[in-house]
Amino acid sequence: MVALGVDIGGTNARAALVERSTGKLLSTVKEPLSDRTPAGVVSVVRSLVEKVGAGHTVEKVGVGVAGMLRGDIVVNAPNLHWRDVDFGGPLAKALGRQVRLVNDLSAAAWGEFRGGAARGVEDSFTVFVGTGVGSAIISGGRLVQGATGVAAEFGHVKLVPDGGRLCGCGEYGCLEAYMGGAKLTEWMAESGVTGTPSDLERQAQEGVTTAKGIYDFAVGHLALSVANQVTVLNPAVVVLGGGVLSRCPGMVRRINDVVLSRASAASRSSLQIRMAELGDDSGLVGAALLA
Ligand SMILES: [Zn+2]
Repeated sequence: MVALGVDIGGTNARAALVERSTGKLLSTVKEPLSDRTPAGVVSVVRSLVEKVGAGHTVEKVGVGVAGMLRGDIVVNAPNLHWRDVDFGGPLAKALGRQVRLVNDLSAAAWGEFRGGAARGVEDSFTVFVGTGVGSAIISGGRLVQGATGVAAEFGHVKLVPDGGRLCGCGEYGCLEAYMGGAKLTEWMAESGVTGTPSDLERQAQEGVTTAKGIYDFAVGHLALSVANQVTVLNPAVVVLGGGVLSRCPGMVRRINDVVLSRASAASRSSLQIRMAELGDDSGLVGAALLA
């Protein structure tokens, strides 16, 4: 039995056939998203699904999207600049198959649960820092989705009681307004610190004052926010991943240190913190298996 998954990223869309029992990737295809309008993305996904799904009768396709979702509706996808877009309906029509939209981090966490760093672990908290900051909660072996489907939007917890930097979601003071490749480098540039988050980490470690100020605020708040989630959720495993965390070992060390000292003692007594194992494939595998 095979499953079909799609991952819509910031720059590319990918589709894959996945073996249902093992989560193994059987084949993948990828296309750039040159036209990010809903119609443009529908047409790219249709072409990918036609390629990878040819000869396979898969009735339902799982589609991971970076954004807040409600059923077929993409409520807010900052990377695509979409607000309240009916994406699932037109996509299902174009594919001639049923579609389940899933938040990209929910898909990634599910992939890691079924075949990666949290394999078989029924209570996990997954945090990815890439372009933005996302998370997913698996509790008792089920994805926590919330009353309206937008639970675990960890990038949009607030770091300050009032105001703060403007986030891509349109609100102020979110974690993602300070952390994640997009907003962190924007903040760095405004402050005269050039380069990538890895460059920021290096300069902070060398003691460059401006760099250290930004780094300590952004990474310190990320780490403390993870610790607070551990206190609330009491996961068995925290899974860390995404491009920024995989390239910035100092950030991962800081998260480890802060979680193991600032999460409540009871919630962290048997906690493990692990790096994601499936890399860019976790979301594809998870989307397919969630369909
Ligand atoms: Zn936000």
